[in-house]
Amino acid sequence: MSRTLADVAAEAAGCTKCRLAQGRTQVVFGVGNPTADVLFIGEAPGFHEDKQGEPFVGAAGQLLTKVLGDVLGLERADVYICNILKCRPPGNRDPQEDEIGSCTPWLIEQVSLIQPHVIVTLGNFATKFVLQTQQGITRMRGRAYAWHGRTVIPTFHPAAILHGGGEKSRQFAELREDFELVRDTLAPPTKAAPAGEPASTKEPVPSVESAPPPAPASPTIEEPVRVPDAEDERAPEEQLELF
Ligand code: URA
Repeated sequence: MSRTLADVAAEAAGCTKCRLAQGRTQVVFGVGNPTADVLFIGEAPGFHEDKQGEPFVGAAGQLLTKVLGDVLGLERADVYICNILKCRPPGNRDPQEDEIGSCTPWLIEQVSLIQPHVIVTLGNFATKFVLQTQQGITRMRGRAYAWHGRTVIPTFHPAAILHGGGEKSRQFAELREDFELVRDTLAPPTKAAPAGEPASTKEPVPSVESAPPPAPASPTIEEPVRVPDAEDERAPEEQLELF
């Protein structure tokens, strides 16, 4: 019998592949629909996620849940939500390269089993890791990228929105625009046809840019080769960790 997402989650629950196993309350594998069209990937569990065993349950998670409902008309149970790291780094410090290396196989299995049409990377860290780019989220967001037969749409981390002005900020409006792009990618808008005529099938769909490096034609994703180093250039507004 083939392995299910629940099988993988059960195995991950006992993972001791890196030092984070010692400090965690529990593994935060992921939550949602195992056949979701949309997969959200954040950075790592925080305090609340570690305690509750579910990603994005703190204030940032509440913002994510709100925009999900407002723009996509979806609930958390309709999509799948996970992080690059499945265990909380102490004090919410940045994930370390060997921790990411140990944890990546879980993410690869998640993507391979869920087979999402769209992957939304939340924030700088997940975006740089998934798309293997040095560009910060401010430059990457607002577009869709072809990636291993899927579409990646990067957007701001909801925690960055909370730290940077909340729902009145420009970033929040841009986050909503990115969710609109997700919506249109899932169901490209069709122009209303004149009465009596069928709707055109030639409507433009959101443009998809190729992500560097080119995606291999493979049903499963390949392990990303490396994580970005700290020396990459950042635009001034990207100095804030989560941007
Ligand atoms: N930030 C993340 O990146 N992931 C969570 O699950 C919570 C906060």
